[in-house]
Amino acid sequence: MTALARLHGAVNLGQGYPDFDGPEFVKQAAVAAIQAGHNQYAPMTGLPGLQQAVADHQKRFYGIDHDPATEITIHAGATEALCATFLALLAPGDEAIVFEPFYDAYLPGIALAQAKARIVPLAPPDFRLDPKALEAAVGPKTRLVVLNSPGNPSGRVLSREELAAIAAVCVKRDLLVVTDEVYEHIVFDGAHVPIATLPGMRDRTVTLSSAGKTFSLTGWKIGWSCAAPALAAAVRSVHQFVTFAIATPFQHAAAVALTAPDEYYARLRAEYLARRDRLCDGLADVGFAVRRPEGSYFALADIRPLGYDEDETFCRTLVERVGVAAIPVSAFVAEKRVRHLVRFAFCKDDATLDEGLRRLRRLKG
Ligand code: PMP
Repeated sequence: MTALARLHGAVNLGQGYPDFDGPEFVKQAAVAAIQAGHNQYAPMTGLPGLQQAVADHQKRFYGIDHDPATEITIHAGATEALCATFLALLAPGDEAIVFEPFYDAYLPGIALAQAKARIVPLAPPDFRLDPKALEAAVGPKTRLVVLNSPGNPSGRVLSREELAAIAAVCVKRDLLVVTDEVYEHIVFDGAHVPIATLPGMRDRTVTLSSAGKTFSLTGWKIGWSCAAPALAAAVRSVHQFVTFAIATPFQHAAAVALTAPDEYYARLRAEYLARRDRLCDGLADVGFAVRRPEGSYFALADIRPLGYDEDETFCRTLVERVGVAAIPVSAFVAEKRVRHLVRFAFCKDDATLDEGLRRLRRLKG
């Protein structure tokens, strides 16, 4: 879609990265680390200062205690953390439960481990979890459940009740959880609840996140995993030979970033809330049926009120005739079970959002 967007000079509301820069104090910290000569390999498990900063962050926001030396590992973004975790925890033939729609890295990571994804669809428009469907998907080979809240592309934030229902199944059936929380600070309604904080879950959960979204620096690829020592040791055994060490100066800067005052995190959320409403109001005005997301920087729009019913054709038409790129949601589901939704990203400055909406108004009538 991005290639097509370039070809047609389209406003790219498809790709999920900010078109604005990260904060100055974080960029300065990276420059300072390079100038100070922090340019050689970092330790395999991560720079101790960043491991400590991640542990402090988990304690500060969620009250979770982690030993940085044995439980926190620094990765090349959440993407590498996901792949290392799947390779570490899944044996050939094991099963992993994935909720649909899913972020596109989960199925390939599970396949690389020669394991099988068992998909549990969450039904639009609300994508609420049915605990019975989860329980029904658990079999003798099920090893873990993959979670993503706030979710990409759904924008769903799992409620405490849903998390409790998932936790109950995991405790009862002795399952691990791999939880992707990269949008943890982009939550609009209520607060982000890591599943690791629920009873019985801390030591069976691998929590993954990264600096990309929280600090609008997706190109730095600094991510982390938090897990009990035995699980962390397994993850590290893969990480060591896939990536080894992560870019040293960016680890220094990410450690500085995570110590940002509460006002930074509050402003991030407020700015994304304003962008969400700007985009969703505009899409509704064009005639889409829009789901206002509780979290993440993605909104899903139903194309049927505009007279379309196939997302890929719609997105192609949108780029070529209207000059706006969006992503068909069928890319995030198995067997194209959902075809009436498209994903718009609102990690864009106001001018980009306004120009995109101005062009989308051509769809009216
Ligand atoms: N998980 C989700 C749900 C994402 O949306 C993304 C980024 N698109 C990632 C993981 C990847 O994160 P990173 O850039 O830190 O590898």
